[in-house]
Amino acid sequence: MYTWSTSTTIQNTVCWGAILFLDEETSKDNDAFRNSEWGPEAAAAMCEQVKDFPIISGGDKILTLQDLIDRTPKEFISKVMLEEKVFKTWFDCRTVLIGDACHKFNPAGGVGAANAIHDAIALANGINGLPFHPVAEEIEAVFRTYKEERIDRVEKAFDSSKTFKTMAGQSVSSKITRYLMKYTPSWVMDSVARRQNTNRPQAAFLPPAEDKGIVRPAPQPSLSIKAPEETEESKRTQAM
Ligand SMILES: Cc1cc2nc3c(=O)[nH]c(=O)nc-3n(C[C@H](O)[C@H](O)[C@H](O)COP(=O)(O)OP(=O)(O)OC[C@H]3O[C@@H](n4cnc5c(N)ncnc54)[C@H](O)[C@@H]3O)c2cc1C
Repeated sequence: MYTWSTSTTIQNTVCWGAILFLDEETSKDNDAFRNSEWGPEAAAAMCEQVKDFPIISGGDKILTLQDLIDRTPKEFISKVMLEEKVFKTWFDCRTVLIGDACHKFNPAGGVGAANAIHDAIALANGINGLPFHPVAEEIEAVFRTYKEERIDRVEKAFDSSKTFKTMAGQSVSSKITRYLMKYTPSWVMDSVARRQNTNRPQAAFLPPAEDKGIVRPAPQPSLSIKAPEETEESKRTQAM
């Protein structure tokens, strides 16, 4: 199943994209680990598959994606393979993952980049609090705390992205979801938006950003992590 969309930008250009949804069977033919599924050849092959899809022209002429493909510089056309998943393992020993490397959301949710940045903030706060010469257990403890701070938000983002993906489809459940969203009272939508907007993490080691929100930010445990105090001893060992 494909979906495709176009949107205009403030620079008077048109953005376009096409998504091919894969299931367990079809993903075997589109293996994300094969290099041939990335790069310009894969993008060109996908353009070939979607070129005849009709798009809104705003005039009498019937346009298709081919019209946009022809007008797009080749280096601006790319193809990515996406898997929707929240991985169980986020760290091991001194290695840690953030962003898409540990949680991949459907792009329909539009929250992947924001969550990658929120991961980076929580992790940076933890790393900033490490002693000057941390041992492996201390590093792993920071990684564990980072995952604990983020996992709940990430799972919620994953679920909401799935709902947005369902809304974009043509199945019966997609139509029901769209219907329910359309007739959901605005006060319910407001309360959902308010809950989402409580998630405004900050870096503990930078001056706090001015809070212009109308809802209070949610508690952020890593905000209270302080950098270790520099002592004569730590200065000496750092210089060595
Ligand atoms: C079509 C689409 C629309 C999206 N829309 C939105 C949106 O509206 N809002 C939103 O918040 N998110 C959106 N996202 C998701 C967002 O783009 C990602 O969640 C975000 O980019 C993840 O950031 P990241 O740093 O974790 O990974 P990436 O941005 O993927 O960065 C990883 C980097 O590592 C590099 N790399 C990979 N392997 C190696 C290697 N071996 N050596 C060196 N470098 C390497 C890659 O080239 C890449 O630059 C969208 C995604 C897609 C595909």
